[in-house]
Amino acid sequence: MRLLTHNLLACHAKTCATTSNNFPLILKDVQLEQIEAEENEQFIRGFLPKLEWNALVSTARALGDTSLPDKGPDPSEPMLDEGLLRTLHHVLLEIHIVEGQMVCPNCSHVYQIRSGIPNMLLAEHEIGK
Ligand SMILES: [Zn+2]
Repeated sequence: MRLLTHNLLACHAKTCATTSNNFPLILKDVQLEQIEAEENEQFIRGFLPKLEWNALVSTARALGDTSLPDKGPDPSEPMLDEGLLRTLHHVLLEIHIVEGQMVCPNCSHVYQIRSGIPNMLLAEHEIGK
């Protein structure tokens, strides 16, 4: 699972549906793998408006990657700094979480990551309407 995916995941247990404290999920006991990916500036730029910058920075730092600046790029800037682009590419697309857990900061529900795939399923009683 790439950090790009992690940046899109929030806890969806019924007790968390109405809070804003269900994101980002806290990574625990993770096993990482670096997998090289082809650079695609357009893709990164297209994703920027959806990106939760602070969540990405804190998650990357928790994993030991301190390459991202505190403040994200201005989405209205037509050009993305070459260095930042490369850094973002690496953090979003090349760091893979192979095994580990994601813990909801609100309800403490644990989502397992196995063989790179997050299991976002909840038990029946946790879904609700
Ligand atoms: Zn939760």
